[in-house]
Amino acid sequence: MKEACGVFGVYAPGKGVAQLTFDGLYALQHRGQESAGMAVSDGEAITVVKDMGLVTTVFDERTVSCLPGALAIGHTRYSTTGDSSWRNAQPVYRPVGRAGFALGHNGNLTNTAALAAKAGMLPGVVASDSDLVAELIALAYPSHPADGEADELALGAPGVAPGDAEEALRNPDGRLEQALREVLPKIEGAFSFVLMDATQVMGVRDPHGLRPLCLGRLGPDDDPEGWVLASESPALDVIGARFVRELEPGELVVIDAMGPRSERLFPEDEVEPNLCIFEFVYFARPDSRLYGREVHGARRRMGELLARQAPVDADMVMGVPESGVPAAEGFARASGIPVGQGLVKNRYIGRTFITPGQSARADGVRRKLNPLRENIAGKRLVVVDDSIVRGTTQRAVARMLREAGATEVHLRISSPPLVWPCFYGIDIPERDDLVAANMSIPELEAFLGVDSLAYLSLENLQAAIDAPGAGFCTACLTGEYPVAPPFELDLRARDEHHVSSSAAPAPA
Ligand code: SF4
Repeated sequence: MKEACGVFGVYAPGKGVAQLTFDGLYALQHRGQESAGMAVSDGEAITVVKDMGLVTTVFDERTVSCLPGALAIGHTRYSTTGDSSWRNAQPVYRPVGRAGFALGHNGNLTNTAALAAKAGMLPGVVASDSDLVAELIALAYPSHPADGEADELALGAPGVAPGDAEEALRNPDGRLEQALREVLPKIEGAFSFVLMDATQVMGVRDPHGLRPLCLGRLGPDDDPEGWVLASESPALDVIGARFVRELEPGELVVIDAMGPRSERLFPEDEVEPNLCIFEFVYFARPDSRLYGREVHGARRRMGELLARQAPVDADMVMGVPESGVPAAEGFARASGIPVGQGLVKNRYIGRTFITPGQSARADGVRRKLNPLRENIAGKRLVVVDDSIVRGTTQRAVARMLREAGATEVHLRISSPPLVWPCFYGIDIPERDDLVAANMSIPELEAFLGVDSLAYLSLENLQAAIDAPGAGFCTACLTGEYPVAPPFELDLRARDEHHVSSSAAPAPA
């Protein structure tokens, strides 16, 4: 499973915003490794630097030091719509009249085709859903007298003070906000955007809050030195910013010289918090805080509840690095079985080159993980992982562990079975490719080559997160989509399941 992008924004005159953005993006690297970029403004002009590769590949000391400015946005990308190419690297920049704006997007829209058709765009004109939004914002940008008259004014038109036109160009007069007010209510799906013009940084979350976005402050509470937006709170920590709060679903935050101000762009009845539950299971860093909970603690509790829900006799509990490790610790604590390390992960692997086909994927697993034979030989193992998509990793891991001498392999998964595709920016493939949607537990045990398999129930997953009243998207687990998928989905399996569950006797 792959994440869908990390976004970052900072308004901090005099603070070296390019360096802060580099550090923030580096902390968000896990959310996307295909391309990285930043847009920096010195208050007059926006400069964009972006390229394919990791943050450290795209930027070096020289590039960062050549980007002076007072405000910036940044982006790390994993492509879920649009191909993986330079054209799709972000931030996306659009010139508008004599001004311009830049945008970074985390999430996937579900009505891209309809929006493009409505705007009269021919197929292929926009490269991705983020590109389309930038195009729509550019079209909605209110015109400014300076756009057409600047040259005339600069030439000294009668009655106009020298420099007025330039001043008008530098101060966009809230035009980006106005364009957002017009465009955002029309788009559907998942979005956490960071945006900027020459003088302001903005952040906005979709009305379901499917993807995270938080606000931080640089400097003391009573004398702020700058403001920061980031997909996850560790990006604030690494630059010494204090976490202030998560943006509310449907909220727009605009940051300028006066500090941050907030606006709700969507009618109240359209706002319904549905944060992606997989942020807690897998995507977010363990040191991230979401809904006021640290992710690592939630993952440990997932393991504890999994041990109570699906106990097994074994000699050692081990996590599949890295997101399975906290749940393995929890499983060990609750079961009393010692925890140990059974696999070593190559830390320096950025992105394996995945060629089509299952065997190539399995080779990718071998390149990433290697067994610790002395820890494994002769032992009955509980192997804890966060999720199963195609089953390729778990199958390769089980074989590796048996070859290294494990006598039994019991697989425990710290989330419910993934049985529906995701349309909100996570690379969960079609239902046909999701093994849990197509096999029973005994079939899966045979396919994966494990002695037993159990998944954490949805009730226990929510109990482990322990954020009462918080709303979650669980569509890939339940088929309950908070935003209609972009095409009609055959949901008969979901509905049949509901009928059979409601007919089943209540659990003891
Ligand atoms: Fe997250 Fe699954 Fe919802 Fe996608 S469908 S946003 S992966 S919970």
